[in-house]
Amino acid sequence: MNLIILGPPGAGKGTQCKKLVKDFDLIQLSTGEMLRAEVKSGSRVGNKAKKLMDAGSLVPDDLIVEMISIQIDKHVNVKGFILDGFPRTAAQAGALDGMLSEKALKMDHVIQLEVDEDAVIKRLSGRFSCAECNIGYHDVFKRPIEDNKCDICGAQEFVRRTDDKLETIHSRLAAYRHKSEPILPYYNDKGILKCIDGMGSMEDVHTKIKEIIMGGDPKN
Ligand code: AMP
Repeated sequence: MNLIILGPPGAGKGTQCKKLVKDFDLIQLSTGEMLRAEVKSGSRVGNKAKKLMDAGSLVPDDLIVEMISIQIDKHVNVKGFILDGFPRTAAQAGALDGMLSEKALKMDHVIQLEVDEDAVIKRLSGRFSCAECNIGYHDVFKRPIEDNKCDICGAQEFVRRTDDKLETIHSRLAAYRHKSEPILPYYNDKGILKCIDGMGSMEDVHTKIKEIIMGGDPKN
């Protein structure tokens, strides 16, 4: 089973994907995570991507499509994959279809998480994570129990994504509205798009996604 989780930055795509990976034994292919790894390694791709990511702009389609194609080829024997943060443009959606038919694969579900833009801005601008174990925190919604100490591993160093600055968040949301939202009708026409309310608790959203995957009708 292969699926795509869509939605604006901060909709909770990454969090939901991680839960689904465990439930259904899938592989998560997150283009954002792949790019951050490239940036960290200082590769040529990473250096090129960093400037665009820090500006809240999208990275060129050809680079992203190649990255995903390599990952899909690497994981031919898995039960399925979840695409997180991809596709983000009409060109990427078209390239994905070409790639899937070439590899005799198909997309089973496309799930769109619908969220309120103001809430997303609050979520993104306050989030940070443990530099050691990567567990997520938030300035308002989820502070560590002890100030400056990770609840899980005890580390005292935390990190914030460089693109979670307010100005960049606005650019990322604009990129989503102009380039990514227009791909929704493409999947709707194929009859595989389901939209769910992404503003509930993490568990509520998770339950709704599972209902869709297992053939039920999510109650919004
Ligand atoms: P994310 O972690 O999904 O929020 O992605 C972080 C940043 O990586 C985005 O703001 C873009 O600059 C870049 N990026 C991630 N996925 C894509 C994609 N599919 N197409 C273009 N740029 C992407």
